[in-house]
Amino acid sequence: MAEECIFCKIIKGEIPSQKIAETDELIAFNDIHPKAPHHYLIVPKKHLADLRNFEKEDMILGSKICALAQKISKDLGDIPFRLVISNGYDAGQRVYHMHVHFLAGRTFEE
Ligand code: AMP
Ligand code: ZN
Repeated sequence: MAEECIFCKIIKGEIPSQKIAETDELIAFNDIHPKAPHHYLIVPKKHLADLRNFEKEDMILGSKICALAQKISKDLGDIPFRLVISNGYDAGQRVYHMHVHFLAGRTFEE
């Protein structure tokens, strides 16, 4: 846990969030500025800044994130969805605790 990290604070319950799913290693909650009717953030509970910081043993989180995204989609009736990960400022990342955007409920451009 990083002390000043907003997502670590959400994971610890120090900042409120609208949680939609949780496993022992992941949490998913509503994005505060949704860009789609369904916009969730899937976040590892372990503080990792972005994919560039993942060690070999962290890579298993990738498949667990995919499994949780599949479950969220299933719970919404197998809704089509987009996953987005930004890694670093120039890639558009603004919260430096690795997270995956789950976006669904509208048509996206290619
Ligand atoms: P990124 O630009 O990929 O780092 O995305 C960070 C996302 O976190 C943005 O879409 C923000 O709207 C979202 N966000 C920031 N603070 C909060 C918060 N307290 N609760 C929920 N989502 C947040
Ligand atoms: Zn964190």
